[in-house]
Amino acid sequence: MKNITKSTNLFSKASQFIPGGVNSPVRSFNSVGGTPIFIEKAKGAYLFDEDGNKYIDLINSWGPMILGHNHYEVVNAIKERADDAISFGTPTRYEVEMAELICTIANIDMVRLVCSGTEACMSAIRLARAYTQKDKFIKFEGCYHGHSDAFLVKAGSGVASLDIKNVSGVTNGAIKDTLLAPYNNLEALETLFTENKNKIAAIIIEPVAGNMGCITPKEGYLKAVRALCDKNNCLLIFDEVMTGFRLTIGGVQQLENIKADLVTYGKVIGGGLPIGAFGGKKEIMKHIAPSGAVYQAGTLSGNPIAISAGYKNLKILQERPEIYVHLEKKAVYLKQNLTKVFNENNIKHTINQVGSMMSIHFGVNEVYDFETSKQSSQETFNKYFHHMLQNGVHLPPSSFESWFLSDALSQEDLEEIVSISSKFKI
Ligand code: PLP
Repeated sequence: MKNITKSTNLFSKASQFIPGGVNSPVRSFNSVGGTPIFIEKAKGAYLFDEDGNKYIDLINSWGPMILGHNHYEVVNAIKERADDAISFGTPTRYEVEMAELICTIANIDMVRLVCSGTEACMSAIRLARAYTQKDKFIKFEGCYHGHSDAFLVKAGSGVASLDIKNVSGVTNGAIKDTLLAPYNNLEALETLFTENKNKIAAIIIEPVAGNMGCITPKEGYLKAVRALCDKNNCLLIFDEVMTGFRLTIGGVQQLENIKADLVTYGKVIGGGLPIGAFGGKKEIMKHIAPSGAVYQAGTLSGNPIAISAGYKNLKILQERPEIYVHLEKKAVYLKQNLTKVFNENNIKHTINQVGSMMSIHFGVNEVYDFETSKQSSQETFNKYFHHMLQNGVHLPPSSFESWFLSDALSQEDLEEIVSISSKFKI
């Protein structure tokens, strides 16, 4: 057994001062059991905990650390910026450079920088409602768009991991205009449009879902969703907080050759610092204050330090497209070899993988929506999670979360993950 005395002690102190001992529920081990590991530092593909244990990291800060931890170019960019600019609350050149870079890569007209993915998604919905003059929007069961009230019905991620059926404090008023559809099911969407004629402002979707495990849209599904939106004068919002600049440089918009009306970003665009963004067509974005009447604001929006890290992260990804090829190869290697070792050990499972996102569901043959994801064996996942942790691999502590691979993972790291998995028995 690993010595995790310091982590255990820290967790007990944290629980005195921080609700549940963590500042975000997904960090807790509530769904897998045990106490969370407190990380002191990280480098490349590895985390080092307070007790000096080393782990291969498959969380990567839930997505942002696509290049691996403490990439020297990103660290230098932060250090250089910090000498001159921490926060002014006035416009800066850095914001303009960042906005131009995001718009160019993502092929959108305008972008507003915010401080989190939650802010980006809730602002995008407000904007869609104002632009279309309609109130309702459709979200998918098991998708997560941050913790704004209207999104917290049948949400994925921590809400699913903790099995919270109705999020306390969210009023019926806040969710009365949230319509729910199962992922990958076109008929359900058509029915919602028929039942709510001229009332639906937007569909918000994780175009590759990552918050009920990794779930791929079925062939042609996103194109059909785009067509339904056009037919019903409804905006299509791609929530690319996870997938943006991760699955390809241009996210799922590029991967599937579909243009959304609005897109939300976070994670990779901050290189590990707090950031979010929403953007899209100028005709829609110009309604944001102060050019329009849709109010949206933030004291630290466009923060110079966050931008220094994010800009460098994006520049590296833009200038070295081979990184995406390497990431895909690493993920495919893991998928193929984990499938092999689980099959050899007669462990029924499904691995979904798109680019550098993947997840394993045990005890099921197919996972394509929230219901099928929930049917997988949590008990087996929990055992697997602890088997991996004990042997030095830190997975996200829930089967409802995707693994995020980093470019820093070496072939030896991948082989180690497979070798440890091959010793897993149920
Ligand atoms: N949208 C998606 C798809 C996410 O995965 C997340 C967070 O994981 C969010 C929005 C919310 O982002 P944040 O945690 O930065 O508020």
